[in-house]
Amino acid sequence: MLQTPHQSPQAAVVPVQRTSSREQTGPWHSEAVCRRDEAGLFFAPSKEPTAARLSREQAAKRVCARCPVLVECREHALLQPEPYGVWGGLTAAERRVMLARRRRRDADLGQSAQVPRIA
Ligand code: SF4
Repeated sequence: MLQTPHQSPQAAVVPVQRTSSREQTGPWHSEAVCRRDEAGLFFAPSKEPTAARLSREQAAKRVCARCPVLVECREHALLQPEPYGVWGGLTAAERRVMLARRRRRDADLGQSAQVPRIA
């Protein structure tokens, strides 16, 4: 079984047998700082209070900030897309915002490519 960066919600139930798309991560995962997320920082336990979630996410982001594969991890999470957890220093909500911006940008670029230029 391929090692993956950090624990998924499924892994919280079955810690060693990870079954999420984390198994499809690239070779970057071997350098992930969060490979052993014993503290469970990267995914929310069920019914986590908001203050606890914010604190946990900030702690996870501090781990990501010193991770040598942050860029690769973030792109992986955006391309999948990964719906849960902190990946590449971004929460799921932050990734949704980033993806929406990318879609808007791509749509704008597509439209501007079709609009004839006025000399
Ligand atoms: S950037 Fe964060 S989530 Fe991604 S591999 Fe590194 S520590 Fe893990």
